[in-house]
Amino acid sequence: MEQSCEAAIASGVTEIAITDHVDHVPADLGYGFYRPEAYLRELDEMRERFAGRLTVLRGAEVDYNDSTIDDVERFLDRYRDEYDFIIGSVHYFSDGAMIFPDYFAGKSLDEVFLPYLDQVERAVETGWFDSIGHLDLPKRYAPKTHRDYDPLLFKARLEPIFDRMIAKGVAFEINTSGLRQTPRTSMPSGLVVRWYADRGGKLITTGSDSHAAQTVGAGIPLTLDMLQLCGIEHVASFRKHQASLVPVSTLQTRAA
Ligand SMILES: [Zn+2]
Repeated sequence: MEQSCEAAIASGVTEIAITDHVDHVPADLGYGFYRPEAYLRELDEMRERFAGRLTVLRGAEVDYNDSTIDDVERFLDRYRDEYDFIIGSVHYFSDGAMIFPDYFAGKSLDEVFLPYLDQVERAVETGWFDSIGHLDLPKRYAPKTHRDYDPLLFKARLEPIFDRMIAKGVAFEINTSGLRQTPRTSMPSGLVVRWYADRGGKLITTGSDSHAAQTVGAGIPLTLDMLQLCGIEHVASFRKHQASLVPVSTLQTRAA
């Protein structure tokens, strides 16, 4: 955590929520490793150590899908109030299959993306999450046979999800890891952000999905520029699950 905080400051980031994965599918490599008390203790040490230089928030990225809903609810019942910011992320389909390249074999894009977006929609409806992670994650894992992914194909499915997000005050994340990985665009990309803005959406968070200090803050300046081009003038910041809007322009100067 300490290295990540130092890296955040070096890359011009002013606020960081360290959102360790809370995995609920036994097949996941991270399953069984999350220790909330130890996390919260270390996080608070960082909060004190970096006070005045970096705002450090208590965060978590909670894996969600239909098959794990009871475990997710149990975790959130016990711990939700301890956190500032919780991302709800779909990494598995309802049958527990991971969105890895093998999953695409013999399937059309619709057969992969539509069930994924169904899970995303249900995550929104729970009202448990402040922001939805990497909205179009399957594109990161799409094998060569499925590189014809075009967000326009799913516009009609995304729009009602955006409407529910707006009605329920749920944000979504621009995950910049896609910029440095196969899709070479953020998850989601600017086009999708534009559709959300056109429907009146205002709650967007940014995340670099860093699993190592080297990539903390990567792609954030570019993403801030993209948001402005798409008509989003603020990013959302959460304290105890309450959103406030921070002008993008104030963040750009610092990240420049
Ligand atoms: Zn994730």
